[in-house]
This record gives sequence, structure tokens and C-alpha cells, in this order.
Amino acid sequence: MELIVKSLSQKDAGRGLAAVDGAAMTELGIENGDYVYIKGDRGEVAARVWPGYPEDEELGILRIDGRLRKAVGTNIDDTVDVSAADLPAATILTVTAPETLRVDGDLAPIVKRKLKGRAIDPGQTVHISLALGPGSSVSKRQIPIQVAEIQPSDTAIVVESTELSVEKRPAERAQDHEESSDDQLASASQSESQIQTESPDITYEDIGGVDDELEQVREMIELPMRHPELFQQLGIDPPKGVLLHGPPGTGKTLIAKAVANEIDAFFTDISGPEIMSRYYGESEEQLRSVFEDATENAPAVVFIDEIDSIAPKRDDTSGDVERRIVAQLLSLLDGIEERGEVVVIGATNRLNAIDPALRRGGRFDREIEVGIPDRDGREEIFEVHTRGMPLSKEIDLSEYAVDTHGFVGADIEQLAKEAAMRALRRVRPNLDLEADTIDAAALEAIRIEDRDFQHAMSS
Ligand code: ADP
Repeated sequence: MELIVKSLSQKDAGRGLAAVDGAAMTELGIENGDYVYIKGDRGEVAARVWPGYPEDEELGILRIDGRLRKAVGTNIDDTVDVSAADLPAATILTVTAPETLRVDGDLAPIVKRKLKGRAIDPGQTVHISLALGPGSSVSKRQIPIQVAEIQPSDTAIVVESTELSVEKRPAERAQDHEESSDDQLASASQSESQIQTESPDITYEDIGGVDDELEQVREMIELPMRHPELFQQLGIDPPKGVLLHGPPGTGKTLIAKAVANEIDAFFTDISGPEIMSRYYGESEEQLRSVFEDATENAPAVVFIDEIDSIAPKRDDTSGDVERRIVAQLLSLLDGIEERGEVVVIGATNRLNAIDPALRRGGRFDREIEVGIPDRDGREEIFEVHTRGMPLSKEIDLSEYAVDTHGFVGADIEQLAKEAAMRALRRVRPNLDLEADTIDAAALEAIRIEDRDFQHAMSS
């Protein structure tokens, strides 16, 4: 039957789940814990059935995470064909892990525990998180595990009796490295386990507490990109520029990336301060080439971070350079064809510091505030940043959400990392950190405890 695709909650993401609303489950003759095939433009994948969300009842909704949406070739609000799947238990499963993963001993029990209950397709890449994986962002803690062989059939379920083995595979490509202020911490923990991972795209499930903002940005951008004729017919101009404003670390960059990813648009970004520090004339050239790149690869999203630093108000205090760059940016914006195929998202935490000329109609004429998250938002963000972390049972993330009033996403990410580092320090004496590799069993035994979070919060 046809169901409408929506995103999963942060908590349910990354586990190969499909939340199906109750009425649809009845119609499909399936129950919680069964399996379904989901068919979209790109292909068919199997997923484990999970209870539908209360708000979806009788709405014909299927919730899957960004990775499944990609694999199936579908977007939010699209329809997919869903059918019951009767899958065999896998007898044999051979997977490969990147050889850069310097873990000693047998990884198989760990991988099996992570995959148990999941429907696995041949050739599939599953991302799993290993204890205190490194990484400065959510996605980088994930280790890509590829399926090399699966028996007895095409798609099968990993069960306790599955004979699972893990082989090493040569690294395919250098990691897309994103600079981040957390690099030191990231590399500190990276040296513990030497996990090299690829950096997959940001999806809606990687962002917490900004559902409304995401929805607004998506509406503004996706509709014109997908159906430019609608806008032409109605004689209205699709937006060219959207300004996201709010305090640093609230997820503005994540929102731009996730929206571009979800609507399959090309993403290119430039940072205001970086542009400003170039030699005479180079800034304009750089801006031009970013826009050219976007136009060639349209549909595209151009993200300009800290746009206030390239486009401050053109008053007496601003220098020649600023004036030239604002003029260039205005002309580039005006030059974008009104087909909605290239959209510029600017981010700032000083909305009023932006040249008013940029905020006029036909330029950055839509503004969305991304504020400090509330309690529920913080809980979602905790879910994102502890996803895949080996949390000890007593941990209650909703309590931490209560205790972190005023924290933004970046603070919560930092907190979760700090708690993980504390757990690591605690088990350090049991790990031989001088060795080239870490013992898999020792890695598996690590648990992050409540006291690690409490210490992190009070430090
Ligand atoms: P901004 O662009 O608003 O300054 P970013 O999007 O660059 O903030 O966020 C920085 C980091 O903080 C992100 O990489 C992410 O790890 C974390 N973060 C910020 N906001 C959120 C959020 N709403 N949900 C999850 N993580 C977040």
C-alpha cells in the first residue's frame, strides 16, 4: 500500500526502523517487530516495523530515517509502496569494516549485537557506532560496515544464531574532513581507537528541537525547486534568499545542510569572515565562483555563514572592501534566475547588523529565527548526540534536558563528548593505550555513566 514518508524521531533514527501507523499496520497485516519492504524511486529496502507515532494514527504515514530515505530514493511527503516482508533469518553474514579501524580481537560479537533484529540487504552499508567513537559531529562517530556475503537469501534478518564474521577492507577514500573547533578533542579520542570514518550527510534526524524551522525552510525552498511551473503560473517569485538568525550553535548550519540533503540539492558554502580576509579583489572572485558552482549544479543551496561580516551596514564606518563585496553579493543575488533553482541561505547572529539593501524584496526577504531550544528540544538534541553511545541504564536524558536550561545544541554536543571522555579516562587503566590497537572486548565494556554527565555538567 502507498504510505506518506515522514522523518523519524531523533531517538529511533539509525536503527533500520520503519514506524507505521496503526491503521496501516492492520491493513498490511503486520505487527510491531515484523518486517516490510519499502519501495521508492531508487530501489527497495527492508525495514523492521516499529509502532506508529500517536499523531500519525490513520494518516497513512511511514516514518523512516534519512539513510533509509536515501536508500529508497524518497523524500519527506513523497509516497512509497510498502508491503509485508517475510524474511528468513540469516545463517551466514560476512561484513567488512575499514582497515583503519584499529580494533583488536573479535569485532563480530559487537557488530552482531548492533545489527541484531535488522533486515540486511546484500551490498548494503550499515553505519554502526562503536563505543567512544571519535568524530567532531554526530555522523562521524559512525563506522561504515559493508555487507560482503549474506546467506540464505537476498535479504535476511540478523539473529543470535547468525554466523557473523568481520573482515577488514582497505580505506576507499580520505575522510571528508570538516574543520571544527573540536578537532583537538576529536583527535584525542580518535587516537584511542583510530577509527577512520566517512562523513555522511546530515539528515533531519541529526537535528533536535527545530522541527518548525526546518519545515519552514523546506517549504520555502523545496516547493519552488520541485515545481517552478506553479510559481510561474501564479506569477509569484520564488524566494532567492533566506536568512536564518539566532545565537551561535543553535543549528543554523545544520538546517541548511539537512534541507539541501533532503531535497537532493547541491550544497556549497562560504563563510563571511573567511571571504573578508582575502587579498584585494579575491573576495569578489571567490563569491562569484561559489555562485557559478551552484548555478552549474542546480538545484543548489548556497550557504553563507556569518553573513553579517561580509555585509555589514554600508555606513560611514564600513570600508571600501565591504562596500565592494556587498555590491557584488547584491548583483549575484539579482542575477540568480527567478526559477527557484538556486537559493541562498545566510546565517547570522546579528540580524540588525546586516545591510538593509540585502534584506529587501527579491533578495534575503525571508527571515527565520532559530532560537535557544526549550526543554523538549534539548532532550531531542541529547538523543542526537548520545545516539550510539554506550549509555549506562540509569541514565535519563530527559533529566539532563531539565538541568541544561539555556544550553544550545553546540553546548549539548560538547557536554556529551565531555561525558564520554570522562568515561574513557575512568577505564583507561584497563586499556593498553600504547598498543597500536584496542582490544575489542575492552572497548565493548565501556559504559558512560550518570556521574560522567554530572561531572561534565558541573565542569
Ligand atoms: P550555528 O550554525 O547555528 O552556529 P551549527 O549548526 O554550526 O550552529 O551547530 C554547531 C554544532 O552544534 C553542530 O555541528 C551540532 O553538532 C551541534 N548542534 C547545534 N544545534 C543543534 C541542534 N539543534 N541539534 C543537534 N545538534 C546541534
